[in-house]
Amino acid sequence: MSKEIPYKIYLEESEMPKQWYNVRADIKTKPAPLLNPATREPMKLEELEQVFCTELAKQELDDVTPYFDIPEEILNFYKMYRPSPLVRAYCLEKKLDTPAKIYYKFEGNNTSGSHKLNSAIAQAYYAKKQGLKGVTTETGAGQWGTALSMACSYFDLDCKVYMVKCSYEQKPFRREVMRTYGASVTPSPSEETEVGKKILSEHPGTTGSLGCAISEAVEVATKTEGYRYVLGSVLSQVLLHQTVIGLETKIALDKYGIVPDMIIGCAGGGSNLGGLISPFMGEKIRGEKDYQIIAVEPASCPSLTRGKYAYDFCDTGKVCPLAKMYTLGSGFIPSANHAGGLRYHGMSSILSQLYDDGLMEARSVIQTDVFEAAEKFARVEGILPAPESSHAIKVAIDEALKCKETGEEKTIVFGLTGTGYFDMYAYESFHDGTMTDYVPTDEDLKPGFESLP
Ligand SMILES: *Cc1c(COP(=O)(O)O)cnc(C)c1O
Repeated sequence: MSKEIPYKIYLEESEMPKQWYNVRADIKTKPAPLLNPATREPMKLEELEQVFCTELAKQELDDVTPYFDIPEEILNFYKMYRPSPLVRAYCLEKKLDTPAKIYYKFEGNNTSGSHKLNSAIAQAYYAKKQGLKGVTTETGAGQWGTALSMACSYFDLDCKVYMVKCSYEQKPFRREVMRTYGASVTPSPSEETEVGKKILSEHPGTTGSLGCAISEAVEVATKTEGYRYVLGSVLSQVLLHQTVIGLETKIALDKYGIVPDMIIGCAGGGSNLGGLISPFMGEKIRGEKDYQIIAVEPASCPSLTRGKYAYDFCDTGKVCPLAKMYTLGSGFIPSANHAGGLRYHGMSSILSQLYDDGLMEARSVIQTDVFEAAEKFARVEGILPAPESSHAIKVAIDEALKCKETGEEKTIVFGLTGTGYFDMYAYESFHDGTMTDYVPTDEDLKPGFESLP
């Protein structure tokens, strides 16, 4: 009955998912609603659509509709770079000498180099359909800004990106890719916004943070006619668009009768992991199947493993709605030696609830271990992984090695979210032996927690 499993499992165009899956429809304890930061009442559509595109605001608030049709324009764009391959890591298995069967879903096969394009194209589409002139956003490591620039140029929309200053300086090539696609890129904090000026006066010389860049982008969107703000992670709408990853994975696995025991993904704001696991989590919640699901985060920004489950601001400037999530506090600024993305202080409210309900586990890993795993993977599987993705590789390898000890033939699926070509400074410091590990003490985490509302 078992067919020979190819190295890469592709789908035909006709097999590709035509709807996104909203796992909130199946979750028993619904994730807590976004709150208006001033009134502390649940955000209404009329309030949200001041900041977000109307259709996206509706998706954000909808926790009952299980499936959303993917508009044809987006399906057509997806066809240019999807389905993404689901790869059987035969070479890694051999190298590890493990009886485990390892699969990874590779999202780095597009110019932006990550899964972010899946949501960028959807958000740009809804902005265009609403007749907007453009969108603003923040970017940290640069993948989201790149993806959004590509999506905006496709739909002929203006795109203003606020890029965390240290990344702006460390990753000039990311910046140039964005400009190639027509986006304007401003280092954050900047003097262009009120909140940027305020942050600069309070913290002169700061190299910025995601929370701060978000505040700037939101301010510009709300003050400029015909503009809205878009975000590349954390929000439930983003997780919804990213379910294309999990749906494709499930269709591909089902084709060969493969049932995973374990699904692993890296978690920054939670969008790729949420997207990958959603269809499987749906089955788990409905009691149809059981899977072990593991979120992997950096030990230097441990929102799930050491954060608090509380309402918090999504941004440093406290202009965005409050979200209930596992968080280190919006005042948390990750250590400067932290190289590999995943540095947001909070976590998707959907994943936070699933984690709180015990439906998902979380692990934190230190960055030198992450790069060691990245290199091991690159040398046998050929792909040079993004540091973010390598968090998932690290835990997948750990689990495969456990199988070697116990002799269990577990099937492991992990999300390989992107490529690391723009992260070579980080790889360089790893190779030179200058990369260090930083694990915040409880004392270090205190100021962040004190910033909780
Ligand atoms: C942005 C990014 C992540 C983390 O974001 P999530 O919203 O947690 O998915 C992970 N990997 C890559 C390559 C990224 O660009």
